[in-house]
Amino acid sequence: MAKKANSSNHCSFCGRSEQEVNLLISGMTGYICDMCTEQAHEIVNDSVKSNGKSDAGITFSSLPKPAQLKEFLDQYIIKQDSAKRFLSVAVYNHYKRILQKNVKDDVEIEKSNIIMVGATGTGKTLLARTIAKMLQVPFTIVDATVLTEAGYVGEDIESILTRLLQVADYDVNAAERGIVFIDEIDKIARKSDNPSITRDVSGEGVQQGLLKLLEGSIVNVPPQGGRKHPEQRMVAVNTKNILFICGGAFDGIEKKIAQRLNTRVVGYAASQQNKDIDKENMLKYITPLDLKSFGLIPEIIGRLPILTYLEPLDREALLRILVEPKNSIMKQYQKLFSMDGVSLTFDEGACEYIVDKAIEFKLGARGLRSIVEAIMIDAMFTLPSGEKKKLQVTRSYATNQLENSDLHHLRVA
Ligand code: ADP
Repeated sequence: MAKKANSSNHCSFCGRSEQEVNLLISGMTGYICDMCTEQAHEIVNDSVKSNGKSDAGITFSSLPKPAQLKEFLDQYIIKQDSAKRFLSVAVYNHYKRILQKNVKDDVEIEKSNIIMVGATGTGKTLLARTIAKMLQVPFTIVDATVLTEAGYVGEDIESILTRLLQVADYDVNAAERGIVFIDEIDKIARKSDNPSITRDVSGEGVQQGLLKLLEGSIVNVPPQGGRKHPEQRMVAVNTKNILFICGGAFDGIEKKIAQRLNTRVVGYAASQQNKDIDKENMLKYITPLDLKSFGLIPEIIGRLPILTYLEPLDREALLRILVEPKNSIMKQYQKLFSMDGVSLTFDEGACEYIVDKAIEFKLGARGLRSIVEAIMIDAMFTLPSGEKKKLQVTRSYATNQLENSDLHHLRVA
């Protein structure tokens, strides 16, 4: 193990004495100073890059295949098979495209930015986050609602890239291969389908701004974030290889899909066709046309060629979400308790109660955690300092705890 050297020693690499350096570290047979350590670090980094590894650490052989990506997603996300398949293929193709950059031929693989449509709390962000985790690339989530055109109150479009740079520790190369999840893309839709002649600061203007990022261009990014530090030096970021995944609930789009399906064909054929339509899950029929009717400009739609949907989550899906995923809520609480030496179990009745409450409170999957937290708070407070080494959460325990908590007042009339 290396230790600090004493004053009469010299760095075995540059020869400087301990007085001339900030720190001299001793090894088995020699010494190294802080400056040489840094230099060595740079050399290692450069050699990793020249060995054909991309800066984000991805090589073609290490690139997981779509089936492997989906398998990984399956461990964390319940249902959403269609979105998982689309996402896995799009991400795989995206990284193939990046890794193909040195091959000289006329075929240029285009970028495969993705748009996911689905009610809130069905797993859009979770999907994007999980895939980024698997690929170990810089990943950031931005909310489209805070974006405005430059010069207006809100955040400039470039702030998206500032965040990506920050999570990449200002490594521009890594950021340029990262993934950006733009949430609530539906909120910047044009309010009507007709192009407006008045200025539309939060809608179409932002879409136009986003276009620049999505299609791939060199953007000057303020590394500390926009307007607070006007004096900072800009960093040029090329968005050509950044994968953008957009998500939105597109409330009411089902109606537009239904209208389109109903009006396309008339007569007997139409009534036969409509019979087979899954009315509970209209989103599965979504097409780019529906996004246009909702108010996304055609240029944006064109830059988001992969369109997929998320299914609504029913009671059975919520029950599975509670226990099945690799880091399910139940498993997280069990881990917390096991650190205090307490074994925690949940009865089937307790799980059903939690799910029913999430549905009753209209909170969906997102509400599961707060309900479990409300049920467990007393136990989490008392058990660590007590003697009890086992806790079995039954339906009646869960009911009792929740009814005595503040969360219970959430009950919708
Ligand atoms: P969205 O982005 O669609 O609004 P999120 O991905 O943020 O929804 O989901 C909120 C939370 O709900 C997640 O962090 C996760 O705990 C849970 N969740 C939602 N959908 C699923 C799912 N299909 N499988 C597992 N957990 C889910």
